Amino acid sequence: MPVPFAADPPAEAISVTGWGRTAPSSARVLRPGTYEEAVRAVRECGGRGAIARGLGRAYGDAAQNAGGAVLDMTGLDRIHEIDAVNGLVVCDAGVSLHRLMQVLLPLGWFVPVSPGTRYVTVGGAIGADIHGKNHHTSGSFCRHVRAIELLTGDGETRLVTPEDEPDLFWATAGGMGLTGVVLAATVELLPVETSLMTVDTERATDLDDVMARLTADDHRYRYSVAWIDLLARGARTGRAVLTRGDHAPLDALPPRLRAEPLAFSPGARLPATPRFLPGGLLTRRSVGLFNEFWYRKAPREQRGRLRKLSSFFHPLDGLPDWNRIYGRGGFVQYQFVVGHGEEDALRRIVRRIGSRRCPSFLAVLKRFGDADPGWLSFPVPGWTLALDIPATLPGLAAFLDELDDEVAAAGGRVYLAKDARLRPDVLARMYPRLDAFRELRTRYDPRGAITSDLARRLGV
Ligand SMILES: Cc1cc2nc3c(=O)[nH]c(=O)nc-3n(C[C@H](O)[C@H](O)[C@H](O)COP(=O)(O)OP(=O)(O)OC[C@H]3O[C@@H](n4cnc5c(N)ncnc54)[C@H](O)[C@@H]3O)c2cc1C
Repeated sequence: MPVPFAADPPAEAISVTGWGRTAPSSARVLRPGTYEEAVRAVRECGGRGAIARGLGRAYGDAAQNAGGAVLDMTGLDRIHEIDAVNGLVVCDAGVSLHRLMQVLLPLGWFVPVSPGTRYVTVGGAIGADIHGKNHHTSGSFCRHVRAIELLTGDGETRLVTPEDEPDLFWATAGGMGLTGVVLAATVELLPVETSLMTVDTERATDLDDVMARLTADDHRYRYSVAWIDLLARGARTGRAVLTRGDHAPLDALPPRLRAEPLAFSPGARLPATPRFLPGGLLTRRSVGLFNEFWYRKAPREQRGRLRKLSSFFHPLDGLPDWNRIYGRGGFVQYQFVVGHGEEDALRRIVRRIGSRRCPSFLAVLKRFGDADPGWLSFPVPGWTLALDIPATLPGLAAFLDELDDEVAAAGGRVYLAKDARLRPDVLARMYPRLDAFRELRTRYDPRGAITSDLARRLGV
């Protein structure tokens, strides 16, 4: 548990991990409740520096800082202003997307980009420049951010906009918190008529089939994603279930739902997953059976089904702490992207994962749209695949190193918000603007006050 902000007496170090629960490290976790407290925490952070943390949904070590300070930003959670005419919200960085949905949906507005969980903060969404199922139509989160109130490592607070300070803005977008602490942001919203989705579902028989379907008509959908069975082999390799849709217009709702078309009712959350579960629940056999069931349960083809927003975007949010099902060893999420024209690399990687029999039941394939301007933003046009793997799988480290090399050779990259294990030499091959990013950090943070486990591991 974070302690309330107090520099005196010093907070005790506690263990901090990412969502994958690998690579824990100890840090003083401070919870500023005002901007002044955040400024003081950065100015007085000491030699091991400080890093901002939101809701800890990054899988690896991005929001950790061994031996230093971690600023839990969820204490800064005010929504300052909503412009319900033009669709703008000004809020603190610690406000979650869940809270924004609760407040904004009844007014007819939705967040511009939503990841697979709504339990992320606005600061975390900017730090990772998160993408959603609408990347091919809307780009990633920071394209919709008009201004950021940024506390840089020199202890100064700056209002940063893409027009006035493009370098600092686009280095901060996806900069994994390393350009400073986002205190507040102005975000553009998406108008919606209802809180339901109209969804088309179809099955694809193999990887080529799913890629062909995504290429042929993704442009017809605002949101598009495919769940992919990475344990299927032979002719079924890469079989998938595509789910694509958009916000339902009012006239798509049956009369009984029209009374409160914008009600946000994500449903009750189930009891928390037990704290200590034995590892090894997710075996190849159990995951294989699950994948078989999941594939067969999906309709071969279904058009225009109305679904709750929460079940379309955030199916796992109903199960708090589901990350514990991987047991004490935790899990790694591996997410990479390779460009259009590199489909053979994707095919090879999917085959390798299949032959390695990784027990992965939450694998997702998506087609990204245009690259984002963020210097370290992850998306580039092409194919992104994300999969969860138990961290205790024998030989995993060497296997993922090989995949990194394959991804880098194809001109692709892995997503830092998911990473806990990449090698620094590979990072430089994947992110060509890394040197410019390092130089900018030195300019705004000559003491090196802002740093993290990820930054030290990767030499960012
Ligand atoms: C179930 C699940 C599904 C997900 N699906 C997606 C997805 O579809 N697309 C996607 O892009 N990501 C996805 N993610 C990853 C998640 O969206 C990102 O890791 C996001 O950054 C987490 O936000 P957070 O508030 O939890 O931040 P944290 O995890 O606490 O921190 C993440 C990074 O943001 C920085 N940061 C946090 N707050 C601030 C701040 N105030 N100022 C500066 N930097 C800050 C941290 O330093 C760190 O580098 C998913 C994660 C989970 C667990």
